[in-house]
Amino acid sequence: PDWRVIVAVLRERFIAVALALASTTSARAWNSTTASLETPWKMAWRCHGRSNEEMVDALRAARIVKHDDVANAMKRTDRKDFSPEAPYHDSPQGIGYAATISAPHMHAYALEILRDKLRPGARVLDCGHGSGYLAVAFAHMVAGPEGGAGSAAGGHAPGGAGHGAEHGEGGRPGKVVGVEHISELVDLSIANTRKHYSHYLDSGLVELHVGDAFEGWPDAAPYDAIHVGAAAPHLPGALLDQLAPGGRMFIPVGPEGGFQNLAQVDKREDGSISSRELMGVRYVPLTTRAHQLHGM
Ligand code: SAH
Repeated sequence: PDWRVIVAVLRERFIAVALALASTTSARAWNSTTASLETPWKMAWRCHGRSNEEMVDALRAARIVKHDDVANAMKRTDRKDFSPEAPYHDSPQGIGYAATISAPHMHAYALEILRDKLRPGARVLDCGHGSGYLAVAFAHMVAGPEGGAGSAAGGHAPGGAGHGAEHGEGGRPGKVVGVEHISELVDLSIANTRKHYSHYLDSGLVELHVGDAFEGWPDAAPYDAIHVGAAAPHLPGALLDQLAPGGRMFIPVGPEGGFQNLAQVDKREDGSISSRELMGVRYVPLTTRAHQLHGM
């Protein structure tokens, strides 16, 4: 027997197994789904692609993406602009400062769960916006087909869409506000957005601020949709206050590194609150800068 061939094959097998183990254990540590009541979670973590388009098609085939508008918003938000590594792999990736860009399947769940509230003209708050990926995807939804014209593939906003506030149904301008407590990540999110969607920042449709997500962003409240991209130890009162009647919040709740539940919190027209637990998840914590960066 040719031992060199056998050794090479064994080596390759070993590396493949090691890589598979490493990707499940390290990826599962952050922003991951662990179970789901209604969603086809068994396919989560498998929706990879060689391109953004293929990745979104895989999420659609797995029925994690269910609607055309969500698929379009994701196709127009090229994950490569936001994820420095393996952008089309269905796993979270580090973006520095102990933060991650969530896995594509989590972005898809967020867009699907909030979808009813992401109508053209809606107001959205993204807490812990990190890479800025979801802020841009939300912007595509609330700007509507004309206001948000332009595509990641096309590279630039067409003339006409770039200036002035974008308007949705009823003439109300949509708005996406991101609040992120690491100023370096806010700079990164702005640079990421500017790769293809400068017009959203220039028109004010998207605002990306340094701030504490526990406080929300009262200036642009109330919000039809609030997304929280990190696990909160409890439901932050300020965010409940800033949710519009008829609005919906997506928020992972639970201790750092422990069992966390993804909650869908709805505010009824009369101001009362209802909450549903959707699935077990693992997110980085909603915390202080000192704790995030130095464990203090
Ligand atoms: N949805 C983002 C997720 C980023 S990870 C994405 O996919 O890119 C969670 C983010 O929450 C991190 O960027 C972290 O810095 C931020 N964060 C944690 N605690 C925060 C707080 N108290 N206020 C604002 N941002 C916070």
